[in-house]
Amino acid sequence: MKSWDVIIVGGGIIGLSLAIALRKRDARVLIVERGEPGREASHAAGGMLVDCPLETPPALQLLASASARMYPEFAHELEVESGMKVDLRSHGTILFLSREHLSSTQLRDAALSRVLLEEWEPAISRTMSDPFYVKERSVDPRALTAAAFKTAKNRGVDFSSGDLVTAVNFSDAGVSGVTTTKTSFLAAKVVNCAGAWAGEIAPHKFPTRPVKGQMLCLVMPSRTLLKHVIRSPKAYLIPRSDGRLLVGATVEEAGFDKRTDPSTMKNFQKSAVELVPELANAKILEDWAGLRPGTPDGLPILGATSTPSYYVATGHFRDGILLAPITAKVMADVIEGRRPEQDLSPFSPQRFTQRLAS
Ligand SMILES: Cc1cc2nc3c(=O)[nH]c(=O)nc-3n(C[C@H](O)[C@H](O)[C@H](O)COP(=O)(O)OP(=O)(O)OC[C@H]3O[C@@H](n4cnc5c(N)ncnc54)[C@H](O)[C@@H]3O)c2cc1C
Repeated sequence: MKSWDVIIVGGGIIGLSLAIALRKRDARVLIVERGEPGREASHAAGGMLVDCPLETPPALQLLASASARMYPEFAHELEVESGMKVDLRSHGTILFLSREHLSSTQLRDAALSRVLLEEWEPAISRTMSDPFYVKERSVDPRALTAAAFKTAKNRGVDFSSGDLVTAVNFSDAGVSGVTTTKTSFLAAKVVNCAGAWAGEIAPHKFPTRPVKGQMLCLVMPSRTLLKHVIRSPKAYLIPRSDGRLLVGATVEEAGFDKRTDPSTMKNFQKSAVELVPELANAKILEDWAGLRPGTPDGLPILGATSTPSYYVATGHFRDGILLAPITAKVMADVIEGRRPEQDLSPFSPQRFTQRLAS
């Protein structure tokens, strides 16, 4: 029976990026995905590569900044290897802060003058005040995930799609593979990258939970109406180079429900028009909701579990697109038995892990 060095459970951006990193180190890798790769949270994301002390949890800041620095090379490599564009944009973000953040902000140096705001983004409403500028990038997560899928295939990663992993299997020596609803696969090592569903795979009950985010996608009246990502307390706007504009996002505890509701979409439209009046008649292209992998302390779960040869990389919550390159790098190190450059102790699975009673 065929076997692999590493089985990755879940083909979102985290599983795909890790598979590519492991293939580069010559590991034979199988991704087992219950649906189609890249169709869950990684498909629903906005793609802001947020690297800002106001929004990034302090314990995550070093990892977030390291990943943000890796992005140009990460995106370039995926574009070259897949032949697909991922729309990495480097114009930066304009922030409008709430009163509470405005008084305590660590962004004093980043205040943007009215004159520059009007020069950079003439379509922004004149009623918006106290803008700040942050040097951040954005990417199109759907294009990124599709490019990562193609790159993984080109590099020889194997895929099993459409069949759910129900359990990780063990022998006396440690991990022996996974069981799915139809069959089983053999491997020396297994990594759980199942996003919001990571806690559902026996035997470890990682405390991930789905955190729903609804989004709206408009068509800008002109492709260049907005250059920067705009974040305000009510909504954020993410322009894409093809003229789409994403408006998002809610943060809801709603279980595994992925429905959108009309009142939320109306609110998004209203907020978008308050920020940019020219969007009043913008065409609606689509709306959707996705499930972020949340954890009790808002930090990812990264590293080796208490079971030999069983690893986990999940719980990336609002930052999984940003954190994909650094996650792939540090997890490939851990799986190879090397010590990663970054300190992973704040993200250790041991801070939560309980064995499920068998
Ligand atoms: C509305 C919204 C906006 C967001 N905006 C941003 C943003 O601007 N910037 C940013 O960095 N991040 C953003 N995020 C967060 C980001 O999308 C996630 O953190 C990231 O996609 C997580 O990737 P993942 O691979 O862990 O999970 P997913 O993409 O959810 O992948 C997990 C995969 O595992 C599979 N799976 C689950 N269970 C099993 C099983 N038992 N067997 C086999 N396969 C299984 C699933 O089918 C899925 O394909 C946003 C998320 C949402 C919902």
